[in-house]
Amino acid sequence: MAAGELADWQQNLSHSLLSQSWPDSFAEIIEKLSKNIPLSRDDGNFLFTSKELDVIGQIANLVKQARFGNHVFFNMNVHINQTNICTLACKFCAFRRGRRAADAYQMEISEYIEDLRTYSSHVDEVHSVGGLHPDWDAEYYCELFSQVKEEFPHIHIKALTAVEIKHIAGLSNCSIEQVLQQLKDSGLGSLPGGGAEILDDSVREIICKGKESSEEYLEIHRTAHSLDIPTNCTMLFGTVETNDQRITHLLKLRELQSETSGFQCFVPYPFLPDDSRLPEAQLATGTEILRVIAVSRLMLNNIPHIKAYRMNIGDEMTELALQYGADDIDGTVHKESIMHLAGSTAPLNHDGAKLAKIVENSGSVPIQRNTTYSSFEKYIIPNVPERRSLRMATGD
Ligand code: SF4
Repeated sequence: MAAGELADWQQNLSHSLLSQSWPDSFAEIIEKLSKNIPLSRDDGNFLFTSKELDVIGQIANLVKQARFGNHVFFNMNVHINQTNICTLACKFCAFRRGRRAADAYQMEISEYIEDLRTYSSHVDEVHSVGGLHPDWDAEYYCELFSQVKEEFPHIHIKALTAVEIKHIAGLSNCSIEQVLQQLKDSGLGSLPGGGAEILDDSVREIICKGKESSEEYLEIHRTAHSLDIPTNCTMLFGTVETNDQRITHLLKLRELQSETSGFQCFVPYPFLPDDSRLPEAQLATGTEILRVIAVSRLMLNNIPHIKAYRMNIGDEMTELALQYGADDIDGTVHKESIMHLAGSTAPLNHDGAKLAKIVENSGSVPIQRNTTYSSFEKYIIPNVPERRSLRMATGD
């Protein structure tokens, strides 16, 4: 039973699905979901093309409700992007810089520690990803993580995407397993899921040539899981992929999860076009974002949490996503460069109360969690003066 789930959720789901009437075209999907039978590629294609988005959202919301009730999770974290210097140049990336660029940066360990100190009294997670720095090997990161743990033992380190792990292993002449073990021994707690993009090498060839292959991404996460390092997984959609390639992506993640159970959370996010070099991207509309959230909830029956990534889709869309199957909205974040350089306008520096308000606006109950979903506390929003609510237009 995954952390945070209600007991007997599958039974409750069967009951709520079967006690309602649904359009005939959804009969097979309803039957499978009520028996916890994984949905097929054809089911996925149907869900991505059906005109009945409201029905899909309703079903996804029922699954979320059966699993977690009205609870929606968030944590108190800070993002620190340690360097923007990167040896790769993925086409969708507005963050990376060459070493000699005027605005290239690399944080000294002391600088990183001082930055984290600013937030350390009110966060329990630091989320760190960055570019593939040409010199920073396992020794550098082990030193960084050891110092973070020494200074802030209560802070969980969620850091380094699969491609960063591959890059560090290469620089250090180590296997993936060796480097992950060294990093874990130095304080690494979990891996974020970034860099999955679309797990289809023909798409990767266009949008992130030179990055790890689909199989390498999965293998790095498989290895992390085997070392008891939990990870998240992601999907970047709205570039050049087809619906079928999105389904391939979801099926690959589901397959690995059935083998390892190491994924905690799936985080789908749309491509943001500003300042990146992918003019041929199709871009995701608001309804497309909601559909991807809902389809992910339905296809990924073995990955417990689906995150509405506020940093990317914004607060208002997040409220809606929480009614389309998402149960998590990430954290307080405070600092973030990658999505904001790509054009995100999501507010930074939200405190717990602001996050909890987003959750309440969606009709849910805010639950503060830790990184590994092993501790939960209902978040009580402090009393603030009542504000007038916006009146609906009446036409008179
Ligand atoms: S997405 Fe990551 S690996 Fe690719 S260019 Fe940007 S920072 Fe480098």
